[in-house]
Amino acid sequence: METAPTYTGAEGVPYASASTAQHFGGNNIKGLLLLQDTQLIETLAHFSRERIPERVVHAAGVGAWGEFEVTHDISELTDAKFLNGVGKKSKVLLRVSTVGPERGGADTIRDVRGWGMKIFTEEGNQDFVFNSIPVFFVRDPIKFPSLNRSHKRHPATNQGDPTMFWDFHNNNQEGIHAIMALFSDRGTPKTVRHLNAYSGHTYKITKGDGTFHYIKAHIKTNQGVQSLTNDEATELAGEAPGIHGADLYESIAKGDFPSWTVYFQVMTPSQAENYRWNIFDMTKIWPHSDFPLIPVAKLTLNKNPGNYFAEIEQAAFSPSNMVPGIAPSADPMLQARMFAYNDAARYRLGVNYQHLPCNRAVSRVYCPFQRDGFMTFTDNYGGDPSYVGSDLKPIKYVGKNGAHGYKVGGHEEWIGSVVGFKSEVVDDDFVQARGFWDVLGKQEGQQEHFVYNVACHLKGAIPQVQEKALGMFSNVYPVIAEKIKIMITTENLEKAPLN
Ligand code: NDP
Repeated sequence: METAPTYTGAEGVPYASASTAQHFGGNNIKGLLLLQDTQLIETLAHFSRERIPERVVHAAGVGAWGEFEVTHDISELTDAKFLNGVGKKSKVLLRVSTVGPERGGADTIRDVRGWGMKIFTEEGNQDFVFNSIPVFFVRDPIKFPSLNRSHKRHPATNQGDPTMFWDFHNNNQEGIHAIMALFSDRGTPKTVRHLNAYSGHTYKITKGDGTFHYIKAHIKTNQGVQSLTNDEATELAGEAPGIHGADLYESIAKGDFPSWTVYFQVMTPSQAENYRWNIFDMTKIWPHSDFPLIPVAKLTLNKNPGNYFAEIEQAAFSPSNMVPGIAPSADPMLQARMFAYNDAARYRLGVNYQHLPCNRAVSRVYCPFQRDGFMTFTDNYGGDPSYVGSDLKPIKYVGKNGAHGYKVGGHEEWIGSVVGFKSEVVDDDFVQARGFWDVLGKQEGQQEHFVYNVACHLKGAIPQVQEKALGMFSNVYPVIAEKIKIMITTENLEKAPLN
């Protein structure tokens, strides 16, 4: 039997009891409390400080540990060591989250799911911060805070607000493709085990010889995609708000390890030159018929966190964490997220968040020019020079290969162009949304579910905003707007919560 641990205070001093405050002159609760009762003061003071700032988006999440195993050789495309060698395994930390709700928000609400994945490689951490839908609502990062506020709480009523939600999207219609995906049944996944994740962004994979390819990543569930209907999701949000977390935890605990297949779509720079779609536009996919999915790896979740706060709440993911062989593209959303995510972690966890056990690289870290700051709990590089260019302790530099340009031929006008241009909505923004409606049409009931899902939400908006939203769906196909309009006027249509 395990020996019972001896209770101590946080400084290691043993106390005879953890459940009695010190009283003056009496037993039980007769006497006054004493300021000298450090244990009581520490207990209360620490309790008031238990919470850290929650993530402003993606606050509610579930997570687990696992492994990333290479199944197909793509070494001719990238030098990334974690992708080289069939059978190679790397440790992974995955966190899947809703976007809008605060911590504790219901798991089943209609929302995009975030997919934060840290792969601990021999060359440092490779983070992939993906989404459960393949496209995004905006392509200009300056709109990101506005988008998220419109999906959250109204500043006056402090409630989710369909008028505000649709007002934003009516006036930023480049997001129509993402709206279509959100209001399909995939917007309410059955569990975390039954959803796919997509990079959305275009990345580059690179070789030391200066060659590179563009990729989009797809992580497809081996459990099969399964979704809830709008009504099931609404009911479960009340009855079992933590159902996704419980499902993942219990599956792993009983050895039923969920897995996913990781694929890349791969495009050469010359293919990108004249491609039909701008590959830096996060509101567009690359059709499978143009760029088929190439299998790369298998992801398996096989270990629950021992402590949620330490390992999942304190986990910090950033698209800027890229190993040699993976590189950013000129996608403006990716470029902006590469700043914003680290910045959020600095605010939420402090400047040394990379030292926390859940975030710490398994490869050797030697970064003596970034030191000190709150909560330094490494050796802080001892007496090593804290400035660059010292002869006293030579440092070897191997570095990432950075010699890959940002040119994309026919779409060069995007680079360096003004913010307003990227936000301009053109008919091309509706073409893939039409394709998505056609995809839904091939599966029984999916178009009807889409219409119902939108109607349930749009019904809550004021008439003027409803009209404009119907106009937006008309731009996809007039029949969609007609069907939604009829459905909205159906008596007893449930109003479904979003976020
Ligand atoms: P395909 O005709 O080759 O395939 C359509 C894809 O749509 C499927 O592969 C599947 O993605 C997804 N899908 C299928 N059924 C549903 C559903 N009921 N709800 C939501 N998504 C579904 O697609 P194309 O590549 O020619 O693109 C057509 C449209 O499909 C796009 O406009 C886009 O909206 C959507 N789509 C395309 C993706 C891509 O990267 N090409 C990815 C996802 C959706 P999956 O196989 O990933 O499960």
